[in-house]
Amino acid sequence: MPFEPNHDWLKEHIRDIPDFPKPGVAFKDITPLLANKKAFSYTIDAIAHEFDRDQIDKVLGIEARGFIIAAPLAYRFTAGLIPVRKAGKLPWDVESEEYILEYGTDLLEIHRDAINPGERILIVDDVLATGGTAVATATLTERCGGKVAGVATIMELSFLGGREKLAAYDFLSLVSY
Ligand code: AMP
Repeated sequence: MPFEPNHDWLKEHIRDIPDFPKPGVAFKDITPLLANKKAFSYTIDAIAHEFDRDQIDKVLGIEARGFIIAAPLAYRFTAGLIPVRKAGKLPWDVESEEYILEYGTDLLEIHRDAINPGERILIVDDVLATGGTAVATATLTERCGGKVAGVATIMELSFLGGREKLAAYDFLSLVSY
């Protein structure tokens, strides 16, 4: 399917849920996008189009919605797939990185042996908000010996300034709020 001049039509398939999971948060629900065959395949194709498959060894998905985007991209690139998970979910030796939430902090983890030295890693998630999650994931990637080939999301919440925190990386978001 050909690409549109911009990807804003995808917003028709992204649902705003006010006050979820807590008061004051406008949650961006991508389940309508995932359920729509045109929107989902377009999303994967549009991200894949922006990166050179020969420059990516593994695609890393951030729990949980990042997994859904990362898996078809990895398949498409014939790349490996790496999950980054919340604390305590991964069964083997992990590297951990703390990141800041709206209230307090949490940990993200990656298996220590997920990345071979010098491998080029594309980091994928659904939403870039403050950027804390993506920065922590990039830090984990580098600590494991990987090189961040790029960070890709379906959308960014630009008023939260996450993109600026990722200035050192090649960052893509298909749509912006
Ligand atoms: P942040 O670390 O602030 O960039 O938050 C990004 C992570 O939190 C991603 O894994 C998103 O899935 C999730 N997230 C943050 N804000 C929202 C939102 N408004 N709607 C949906 N997911 C969000």
